[in-house]
Amino acid sequence: MRRLGCYYAVLFLQVAASSRAAALEKSDVVFMYQADARTYSEYGATVVAWGGTPRPETLEAAKGLRFFGSVGMVTEFSRYYERFPTNYAEGLCRDIDGQPVKVPWLTDHQHRGIPYWWCCTQQPIFRQYLREPVEETMKSGAHGLHIDDHLGTAGGLWLGICFCDRCVEGFKEHLKSLSPQRLKELQVEDPVAFNFRE
Ligand SMILES: [Zn+2]
Repeated sequence: MRRLGCYYAVLFLQVAASSRAAALEKSDVVFMYQADARTYSEYGATVVAWGGTPRPETLEAAKGLRFFGSVGMVTEFSRYYERFPTNYAEGLCRDIDGQPVKVPWLTDHQHRGIPYWWCCTQQPIFRQYLREPVEETMKSGAHGLHIDDHLGTAGGLWLGICFCDRCVEGFKEHLKSLSPQRLKELQVEDPVAFNFRE
């Protein structure tokens, strides 16, 4: 289980169309992970915050509570690898030398001998990987979704990512949206040709 108190950022989305209220109320008693029905009852729990993929038995145990399923955007390399074992490398973040980057709080983790690489949320293959467990989690009956490390690639800027091809191309689109004056200030002569990796 992942260590608490490290770099994770947490975002809750409540998808119940009937409610525009905050996902969490001050009076809520929030369980970080799944527990059994008796434990929920003894603590007066009202919310399961980091519920993983809901199964029928876990939803039954949490009956009467709001149950948030979970999908991680940085920490689930093993699952991503198993989904795309032959072309997983397409979705990895790259440093300025083109090398993949380990998730700093999982440097002791490997899957099939491969380090837990940080994957790029701009890459179509990784976006596809993320979309599938989100759909699976919500179809399984979760009331909402806990997105772990919700910044994805942007959460790793301090590591010197990302210089993958997709990010380099995407930055050109950003530059094209700037005014000529701003481009001049930035000394960018041609936004279409600008390559921040070079
Ligand atoms: Zn990238």
